[in-house]
Amino acid sequence: MSKNPPFRASIVGGSVGGLAAAIELKQQLGATVAVYERSAGAMQARGAGVVMQPEVSALLHKIGVETRSVCVQLTERVALQRDGEPQRHRAPQLMTAWDTLYKTMRSYLAHDCYRQDSRLLIIEQSGSDVSISFEDGYQTTADILIGADGVNSTCRRLLSGDDVEPAYAGYVAWRGLEPESELPPALVNALSERFTSYITPGMQMLCYLVPGEDGGTERGRRRVNWVWYVNTPDSELETLMTSDSGTRYRSFLPPGQVASNVNLRIQDLAHNALPTVFTDLVHASTLFMQPVQDVAPQKRVYRRALLIGDAAGTVRPHTASGTSKAFGDAAMLVEALSAWTGGADLPTDRLENWEAARNAELTAIARRGLQLAAHSGLGLL
Ligand SMILES: Cc1cc2nc3c(=O)[nH]c(=O)nc-3n(C[C@H](O)[C@H](O)[C@H](O)COP(=O)(O)OP(=O)(O)OC[C@H]3O[C@@H](n4cnc5c(N)ncnc54)[C@H](O)[C@@H]3O)c2cc1C
Repeated sequence: MSKNPPFRASIVGGSVGGLAAAIELKQQLGATVAVYERSAGAMQARGAGVVMQPEVSALLHKIGVETRSVCVQLTERVALQRDGEPQRHRAPQLMTAWDTLYKTMRSYLAHDCYRQDSRLLIIEQSGSDVSISFEDGYQTTADILIGADGVNSTCRRLLSGDDVEPAYAGYVAWRGLEPESELPPALVNALSERFTSYITPGMQMLCYLVPGEDGGTERGRRRVNWVWYVNTPDSELETLMTSDSGTRYRSFLPPGQVASNVNLRIQDLAHNALPTVFTDLVHASTLFMQPVQDVAPQKRVYRRALLIGDAAGTVRPHTASGTSKAFGDAAMLVEALSAWTGGADLPTDRLENWEAARNAELTAIARRGLQLAAHSGLGLL
């Protein structure tokens, strides 16, 4: 990095979107970056399995990581039927996992500031810089702020002055992520090397293997990742998202927190609604859950503060683009900020073009996600 960095960037939100921004601004523009993350301990993986997309591969390439080294290779797609033979077709695809990407990116930024237990509370902008303050009293100032703090973004609320509540899409994603070594070998064999799915009106389940927690991609070290979308009335969320100890979760019900009576109900539903291989998989897994939520494309540029990733708008998970759109936001931001130095006026026109281009793409992906959901009768309650 140059001795005189062109600008300093504070990045709020230390998930994969925030890390992508930190890497792009540091590596491509020589900026000094500092990432501030609310979580105090180990990060909770929101998207367990991640379909490898070109934007993610491009960033890995920039940091010298071979895409295949962080992926499990699939060869075919298999559509299960409850009665009848599965339909198969050849479809090579690379799959990775949220924590595999997270660790790879963190290690690239090992010598940069990554401050955890940092919940953003206040943003103050002057003509020449932007200051942020956290719950623990810590304050810092930079030339630019990147808000990468997800679907319930505090940055978005503070900057827009508007409380944009994510809208529940009418269905939830039950999920599982199990080490293959802890599942029956016959079950793992049935699911390995393929993208396995089952679709019936109001329900869709899919499964593929991803790298292990230690990043291992070989047989024996991988994890079985599955997602089961189920239409669920809004009125049931309170019960589903409350653990046995009474804790009410908002956007993510972590593994081990599904109440015992809810777990029994979901196991029953699996038994009654899914093909045997998926029923067995649900039975053998520690469930976790996310309600699917929508945030429409948002204004992204607020003088020296910019929104990226889910903070700027979401897409339905069926498009497998949540991570790649955040990486695309970060990569294209480099073009908008190239040759800018912190002391100069911001390149407002280029930032506005960036906002328009990213929101056009977000709108197109979001529309495709709605079509994919409708195809499975998801969200049409
Ligand atoms: C059901 C479901 C399934 C999904 N599956 C996939 C998938 O398979 N593949 C895929 O690519 N994507 C998937 N996604 C999308 C994916 O989770 C996100 O799009 C992706 O993680 C990029 O998000 P992000 O970095 O913008 O935000 P997030 O990953 O949500 O991260 C935001 C970060 O900001 C932090 N934060 C929040 N508030 C504050 C604050 N006030 N101060 C400081 N820090 C704060 C949070 O702790 C968090 O670490 C899925 C999403 C859902 C809902």
